[in-house]
Amino acid sequence: MRVGLGHDTHRLAEGRPLILGGVRIDHPRGLVGHSDADVVLHAVTDALLGAAGLGDIGDAFPDTDPANKDRDSRYFVQKTLARLRQEGWQVVNVDVTIFAQEPKLGPVKERIRRSVADLLGVGLRAVNVKAKTGEGVGHIGRAEAIGCQAVALIQELTAENAETAEKKTKKKRLVFFCASSAFSAVNMD
Ligand code: MG
Repeated sequence: MRVGLGHDTHRLAEGRPLILGGVRIDHPRGLVGHSDADVVLHAVTDALLGAAGLGDIGDAFPDTDPANKDRDSRYFVQKTLARLRQEGWQVVNVDVTIFAQEPKLGPVKERIRRSVADLLGVGLRAVNVKAKTGEGVGHIGRAEAIGCQAVALIQELTAENAETAEKKTKKKRLVFFCASSAFSAVNMD
């Protein structure tokens, strides 16, 4: 197993869409960058690259490359995942902390979590998304920027590990199905 850390910050400005973890969030200001400036996916990409010892997002996807202009950052994660698979790695879990004074991210944290999990091809419980304000201090606290930290754990892509991951996903689906059925049954009473 290997662990990697990612960190990123982008400036907020009017006239830009706000995209966090691949989710478009309704807000008058968005993040400025060469790509779509998705600070969450940039931190996740760096965490994955770091865990696999593959450098950083700037090496892999330079901001001098016109192809990356306004690029959907999901592309960076998908390409990085493909590189990890080639090197024999699979994602175990990812933990993300977003630093934003505004907008308040409580109502959208779960959507971001699901989006990142879908993108990584892992179960929902393998991704955690936390949100913190800047307590009114510094560039985050003045709502001039949004920051993100991510930690990723990866493991060797072996048949045994792949089978365990698949079993866990199936078990979660079954638990969810049973819980949904029980909830429906209760509602029908
Ligand atoms: Mg960035």
